Amino acid sequence: MKYKKRTITIKDPRLQRIRNSLRYIISEASISESGRLVQKKSKTSIDDSERPVLTDKIDKLDAAWEKSICVCSICGSRTSDMTRNPEGGSWYCVKCYQEHHDFYVKRAKQGEIWKDGAGRASTGWFP
Ligand SMILES: [Zn+2]
Repeated sequence: MKYKKRTITIKDPRLQRIRNSLRYIISEASISESGRLVQKKSKTSIDDSERPVLTDKIDKLDAAWEKSICVCSICGSRTSDMTRNPEGGSWYCVKCYQEHHDFYVKRAKQGEIWKDGAGRASTGWFP
């Protein structure tokens, strides 16, 4: 799926507090569920048929968390406005996104070209 660059900004301090509280609740629920699944998996034997099911659930939960708007993929901020990188679909706080964008633009102007998995020029950090 191809994403577009998107920044979600909340200026009202009351709405920021609500957003941050919701992110905290989702974060705690995700951490709690992940911990529960890991503990349950640790009690299974290697050949237990439930083990791969638990591993799959843990992996999906981790992947969902890493792409969640609740947390910056670089600095871990949970209280910032977020920008979604068009390439990969992860969310970054506005500051981290801008720093990476500036880095890639500067290096591209120096002639450096990044390739994606298919060997095409990668422009995910340029919008
Ligand atoms: Zn950040």
